[in-house]
Amino acid sequence: MIGCDCAVCRSSDPRDKRLRSSVYIETPETAFIVDTGTDFRTQALRENIRRVDAVVFTHSHTDHIMGFDDLRRFSWQRGSMPVYASAKTMADLERVFMFAFKGTNPFPGYLKPEPHLISGPFQLGKTTITPLPVPHGKAEVNGYLFSRPRNTDLQSVRPVELHSAESKTEREYEISQAAPKAFGAGHTGQSPMFRHERKLIAYLSDCSAVPDEIAQKILGVECLIIDALREKPHPTHLSVAQALEVATRVQPKETYFIHIAHELAQSFEENLPPHTHIAYDGLKLSF
Ligand SMILES: [Zn+2]
Ligand SMILES: [Zn+2]
Ligand SMILES: [Zn+2]
Repeated sequence: MIGCDCAVCRSSDPRDKRLRSSVYIETPETAFIVDTGTDFRTQALRENIRRVDAVVFTHSHTDHIMGFDDLRRFSWQRGSMPVYASAKTMADLERVFMFAFKGTNPFPGYLKPEPHLISGPFQLGKTTITPLPVPHGKAEVNGYLFSRPRNTDLQSVRPVELHSAESKTEREYEISQAAPKAFGAGHTGQSPMFRHERKLIAYLSDCSAVPDEIAQKILGVECLIIDALREKPHPTHLSVAQALEVATRVQPKETYFIHIAHELAQSFEENLPPHTHIAYDGLKLSF
């Protein structure tokens, strides 16, 4: 924190040096980023990011959008930059970055956003991205569930689920579309869609509560990445105790706390239950 002399701000543990929250997801067929905060440029240089095929936004708070214009490097490579956001977040992006959305500057190096409004699950490559609307104080933020096809033995697919689509992913996606209850309230992880998809990551970076229907949707996810600002309660973020309570409902294999404030040292991880970690800048997870 600027001008702070607390133990975490003066810590010698490099993991206590934290930039804004964001994740970069690389798959065999595509690569995308969730949020472009104020530190996006620094993070992209540090991690030597060479490819961004799309950006997905959680919400429009400055710590999640202010690096938006630095997507120009990747937009120029592709010709445009697909931007996925809720209608409210997109409206804010269009207002704050009017110069980019207006598209009147013909210089090819400028960012050319290609807006995609999120109204339900969508796909980037073979990854299904399911929005998880959660309260963030008085605002609503999209968390996201990222799921990928299992290596299903085709012999074991029930005849009713066979469609004419060419690829397995397309077929599974059709199943999810044909089964509206799959995303309904109170449904468990055993929905038709998720029998064929691995629920890999639930990303809830900014939230003050996780309603039960959202916890059900991400039940048993392999990795829960969740807001845990500090020990003391906060009006717009989960505390450590609240995040742990969410984890008991979601039952992930591993839990990572993010959006950590300077009140919480990396060393606090020693006090957390097994399979519960404090994420740090540069952390890489493989699935
Ligand atoms: Zn401090
Ligand atoms: Zn926020
Ligand atoms: Zn935030």
